[in-house]
Amino acid sequence: MTKQEILIYAEITKDNYVHTVVFELANKARELSQKLDNAVISALIISKPGLADKYREAFQKSGFDRVYAAENEIFANYSTEFYSKTATEIIKKYNPSIVLIGATTQGRDLAPRISGTLATGLTADCIELNINEKHQLAATRPTFGGKLMATILCKNLPQMATVRPRVFKPAQDDLVKNTEYIYITPELENTNDKVKVIDFVKSASNIINELDSAEIIAAGGRGLKNEEGFKLLKDFANTIEAAVGASRGAVDMGLAEHDIQIGQTGKTVAPKIYIAFGISGAIQHIVGMNEADKVIAVNTDKNAPIFEHCDCGIVADAFEILPKLTEYFKKQINEN
Ligand SMILES: Cc1cc2nc3c(=O)[nH]c(=O)nc-3n(C[C@H](O)[C@H](O)[C@H](O)COP(=O)(O)OP(=O)(O)OC[C@H]3O[C@@H](n4cnc5c(N)ncnc54)[C@H](O)[C@@H]3O)c2cc1C
Repeated sequence: MTKQEILIYAEITKDNYVHTVVFELANKARELSQKLDNAVISALIISKPGLADKYREAFQKSGFDRVYAAENEIFANYSTEFYSKTATEIIKKYNPSIVLIGATTQGRDLAPRISGTLATGLTADCIELNINEKHQLAATRPTFGGKLMATILCKNLPQMATVRPRVFKPAQDDLVKNTEYIYITPELENTNDKVKVIDFVKSASNIINELDSAEIIAAGGRGLKNEEGFKLLKDFANTIEAAVGASRGAVDMGLAEHDIQIGQTGKTVAPKIYIAFGISGAIQHIVGMNEADKVIAVNTDKNAPIFEHCDCGIVADAFEILPKLTEYFKKQINEN
């Protein structure tokens, strides 16, 4: 019997890096593969020439058994038409049973095109993946506006899912796989790109990227009460060079932009340290930050649920503790 295959779309960023979500998915795929009698784990890279080889070591160490590399100058910029046609052809030819794609801007554009063309199901924006007793992909995602978690099975093959970045962690250990490379010559003669990329304009706000890559996040909730509370939070965050995040409670009160909302209907973050001020710890918030390495929570209510999800809990008034922390760290920084 031929082995099953889990194919991961290896998205290349505009700066020509492999997107971190690819390595997060690769780590999860290792776990899924074991439940499928060691299914083959493969990567599909569509890029300008040279990038598949450039990242050979990274693919090997991440446990990819195989890399499909479709390289052509035409792929220098992402194009829905060219990329989806190429990906679809490769999937049709090699028949992976599972296809995983990062729920990035590019992945969210590409995945439905592929599933539509292949007439198969796609579970979008998943936050958990598993293999059930019938060896099917069980993909879990929030539904009904986040009120329920639905685990969805796909009747057809391949079973497709997109997964939010930072839901899974990349592997901490390196594998030394003898990764097989299959170079594909894309056939695009009859494909017309309806979109022409003229230029890339940087977004005025880099808040989103800041939160994505921040090592420390200081987040505020409804307990910060007013603009003064958020000013104290921002002063503290600036002092320790942390990014600022917020709960939906704070966003709903107009104290923070939705851009920095963390949680089920906001961003998923995974900093080294997450410090929550005046956040109660509703499950919809927790799912957005529970991949943080260390969580510190400050709350006046000793029974606040956030204390069940933190490594260090401080029962205190944020209005009292924030200025003290800012002063303390400013002093430490000045002395060093
Ligand atoms: C479909 C759906 C999706 C949702 N998505 C999200 C999401 O993405 N992100 C999200 O965050 N929420 C989300 N929510 C809302 C979530 O359920 C909570 O309502 C929200 O997280 C509460 O925000 P909060 O903790 O800031 O406010 P509250 O729950 O009101 O908590 C405020 C906390 O501050 C403490 N406090 C008060 N004063 C002080 C003080 N001076 N110092 C210190 N602590 C103090 C209080 O004890 C309390 O624990 C969603 C809800 C639904 C139904």
